[in-house]
Amino acid sequence: MAVGELIIILALVGGIVIMGLISVLGAALLALMIYQSVARKGRWGINVRRTDCPRCGWKLPSVRKPTSLRQALWGGWTCQQCAAELDKWGQHLEP
Ligand SMILES: [Zn+2]
Repeated sequence: MAVGELIIILALVGGIVIMGLISVLGAALLALMIYQSVARKGRWGINVRRTDCPRCGWKLPSVRKPTSLRQALWGGWTCQQCAAELDKWGQHLEP
């Protein structure tokens, strides 16, 4: 077998293995997102419900402007009424 053919076969096998790993990881992450969305906790879930501030009852906007890197990455609010730091589930975070 020529060296060129061997390299092509290795590249193909490598590609298939990498694609398999990515799809397994993707499926695991998707399952985690669905689980945490239903359980309403954790960083990977998606909160589709409207949330009130637990401290002052202010209706938090569904479209939010992140005020920190954490909020940009993981969601959450700073309450406009009482300045409470909330996660995406509307849980109060200690500063
Ligand atoms: Zn508040």
